[in-house]
Amino acid sequence: MTRNNNLHRFPRAKLMSGPTPLERLDNLSAEMDIDLWLKRDDLTGLSFGGNKTRQLEFYLGDARQQGADTILITGAVQSNFVRSAAAAAAKLGMQSVLQLEERVPDMGAEYYSSGNVLLAQILGAEHLGYPEGEDEAGADAALHARAVELKAKGHKPYVINLGLGHPPLGALGYVVAGQELYQQMPDFDAVVVPSGSGATHGGLLTGLALEESTASVFGICVRRDRDKQQARMKVVLQKLADLLDIDARLLQDKISVFDEALPPGYGKVNAITSAALEKMARTEGIFLDPVYSAKTFSGLLNLVESGKIKSGEKIVLLHTGGLPALFGYQSELIHNPT
Ligand SMILES: *Cc1c(COP(=O)(O)O)cnc(C)c1O
Repeated sequence: MTRNNNLHRFPRAKLMSGPTPLERLDNLSAEMDIDLWLKRDDLTGLSFGGNKTRQLEFYLGDARQQGADTILITGAVQSNFVRSAAAAAAKLGMQSVLQLEERVPDMGAEYYSSGNVLLAQILGAEHLGYPEGEDEAGADAALHARAVELKAKGHKPYVINLGLGHPPLGALGYVVAGQELYQQMPDFDAVVVPSGSGATHGGLLTGLALEESTASVFGICVRRDRDKQQARMKVVLQKLADLLDIDARLLQDKISVFDEALPPGYGKVNAITSAALEKMARTEGIFLDPVYSAKTFSGLLNLVESGKIKSGEKIVLLHTGGLPALFGYQSELIHNPT
């Protein structure tokens, strides 16, 4: 597979300030007996950073090309995507409508008021509630109903469609990131990434494949178990390959997902998650978030322990951001001191 120029067919709104840093983690490298590097996508620049900035460059590019004046998006209450979309809309002079779904049960009061919820209010976004978290079709229908109302009032709404049935435009941002990483450091053995919707995992895998990298891409399940995520990644890669006009099978053969770090479930923290979060902070002075990056680091620790990653190997851990959620998870993190 060779690089192609099909990426340039897609309109892109510039939200990133430049390539993100790639830093060696000296203390953890010594402790874990590997050569460990951190790709700092927590520093993508817009509104506390994170992986959604890269994904939004392509959604907002599409929205702008269609003449949109209002962005609509649905996600979990502490969704980073929703907060980043509101920031991107603000930067590009658009309004935003955020629908927040109840995906995570039994959370403390600050889950509903602090972190990303607070930031989205400061950004001036309109908020809608949705009482369920696993009803993708229902949530999408409710959001589209709001778009229809806005249209009737003369607005030009653009819905960021994240469901599996839609083209994964956001994954294109991670095709760019995969190429960026390869250009920064081509000779690593594996990269460890969170695997949620699969846009980040699928895009990075594809970007590296286009560069003819032989590195492994290890996806750490943060939303659903290994079998379900494996099946989802096949679909994401098929749709991404269709967008870029490349052969999906070459990508699908590279899917590798692990779910040991997922318990107790999406958006829920246990003592292992907290320990991983604290280890990164106390060894390197770098914060992870409880929902995604702490579980991804926890997954990396498992891969080293199980021998899947071998001593001396050059490994990249992708930090996807999500830091505002730390403040929405205060109760969960304080309940699990080490
Ligand atoms: C959304 C998110 C992820 C998951 O990325 P996908 O592209 O949905 O797989 C990982 N980390 C953070 C911080 C996120 O906000």
